[in-house]
Parts: sequence; structure tokens; C-alpha cells
Amino acid sequence: MDYRAGYIAITGRPNVGKSTLMNHLLNHKLSITSPKPQTTRRSIMGILSDQEAQIIFLDTPGIIEPKYHLHKAMIRQIQSSIVDADALLFMVDNTIFGANGKVDFDREIQSIKKYNTMHKPVILVINKIDLVVKRSLLPVIEALDAAYPFKSIVPISAKKKDGLKDLVSELKNVLPIHHPFYDHETLSEYPERFFVAELIREQIFYYYKEEIPYSTEVQIAEFLEREGRKDYISAVIYTERDSQKGILIGRQGKALKDIGTRARRAIENFLNRPVFLELHVKVSKDWRKSDSKLRQLGY
Ligand code: GDP
Ligand code: MG
Repeated sequence: MDYRAGYIAITGRPNVGKSTLMNHLLNHKLSITSPKPQTTRRSIMGILSDQEAQIIFLDTPGIIEPKYHLHKAMIRQIQSSIVDADALLFMVDNTIFGANGKVDFDREIQSIKKYNTMHKPVILVINKIDLVVKRSLLPVIEALDAAYPFKSIVPISAKKKDGLKDLVSELKNVLPIHHPFYDHETLSEYPERFFVAELIREQIFYYYKEEIPYSTEVQIAEFLEREGRKDYISAVIYTERDSQKGILIGRQGKALKDIGTRARRAIENFLNRPVFLELHVKVSKDWRKSDSKLRQLGY
């Protein structure tokens, strides 16, 4: 049988479950997730390989109306992932099922048309079906099918790992015949320091309310592997204002210490080895609104 390999961009509005799906397909937590929207800022690559195919996923930030320069950078990430992709996995969730049996997916169809200018095949995934009544699915699938020429429509629950097998076989069908791009063991091609920064960011998303997570960025300043000792990681948390710096650090440094402990555990779990983690907080005034500061932060 011919081997298939290629790229799938996972797109859709924030919070529909894109990162959860990629993590569960790979059985590995590559993408950070949280109940807050816009957790993912850059496209995260994850690679699923088996005997038949290699699927390279690009988990993109959610599609949003841009408000900050940061958002424009996030949208550029979505667009370039779509350019690189052989097909799109467009995800919607149970929120398209409105009250009184109403279904509203016009907005979703419009954004597919807006982003898929190159007319790549689109697989529509309806996620979070654990939250909907099963018999309401069929009419919705029929309506969606009439609204756009989807390659296929697959209902799943990413969280409960329901429907993932069907989804993978649909994805394999749209990939071109190609030899694998990566070794079978490779899960992603980003360096560890990237994931370490993401795991720290994730703790900040869980720990703080509204404003802080969104005005925060994490950069790894040092990542040293030390012979016979724990790895040494030093990270800087950038905030937009002095007042946010105060909140991040907390009274007598308690908040920062808590985040540090939680992040260190998550990092050790990810790297499968003990690390020493040091966190610093710095102000980079209004970094989300400054193109030059965004560039310095690698956007
Ligand atoms: P993303 O913004 O699209 O990447 O969404 P995330 O993967 O970060 O998930 C957003 C929220 O939806 C998280 O709280 C997930 O636990 C939740 N979620 C994801 N998939 C499912 C699902 O299949 N069922 C339910 N009930 N919740 C889910
Ligand atoms: Mg995400």
C-alpha cells in the first residue's frame, strides 16, 4: 500500500477544543489548553505516525477579530498554517446548537470561506458531542453538508476520545501519497524550550483571572543541561504594566512561587526529568500593541 504523509491545519473559533484534540490524538500534551479562549498564540506542530500514514498537525490559534497587534500576528499564524496544509480540519463545537433546536453556523461557514481562499479540502469536525443530544446531530450534519462542500463531516468528543478513529481515517484519505517527512518517534520539531515556555504560560492562564494571562508572555532566558545535576531553566514573564507585575508576583511573592511550583511539575512531567526553575517578572510596556516588541518576542 502507498504511504501517505502531509499537513493538516486545525482551525476554528477559540475554545472549540482544537488543542485538546491534537493532544489526545498524539497521546501527548503538546498544546496547552485552558477553559479560557485564545490560549494558543502560535501554531503548534504535532506529528502522528503509523504504518499507513504520517499526519502532521498544525494546531492554530483560534479565529478571532483582531484587536491588538498580537492578534494580527496570531492571524498570520493561522494563514501561514493554512498555506502549508494539504487540508483543513475545521472545528465547531456544541455552541452551534442554539436554544429551541436552532442551529447557527453561518458565522463558521463565512470564516471557512474567508480563510480557505486556496480551496483546500475541508473536513468539518463537530466537537463536544458529549454535550449534545445524539438525535439532534443528524439534521445538523445534513444542513452543514448543504452549506459547504465539505470533504466529510465527523462528529467527535475530543475530551472523551469518541470518534477519533473515524476522524483519523478521514484525514488519511485526504493526504497525498508521500514518504514520511519525519522519523516515527518524532512528535514535534520545536525545541524543548518552546514547550517549557508554553507550560509556564498555561499555569498563568489557570491561575489568574481575565486580564493577566492575555497581557503576559513568557520567554526562556536560560536552559542549561548540567552534568549530574538538574537542568537549570530561567524564564522571564513579561507583562504590559507595573500594576500587572505586582499582581503576578503577589503578596510576598506567593503567587509567583505557586506558579513556579505548578509549572515546574508540569515541565518535569513533560521532559520526564527533574528541573530547577527560576521565574522573573519584567515589564515590557504595552508589548501586545508594539510590532517591534512582538518581533523581539518572536512573533
Ligand atoms: P482550543 O481553544 O480550540 O484549542 O480549545 P481547548 O482545546 O483549549 O479546549 C477548550 C475547552 O473545551 C477546555 O476546557 C476543554 O477541556 C474543553 N473541551 C475540549 N474538547 C471537549 C469535548 O469533547 N467535550 C467537552 N465537554 N469539553 C471539551
Ligand atoms: Mg488551542
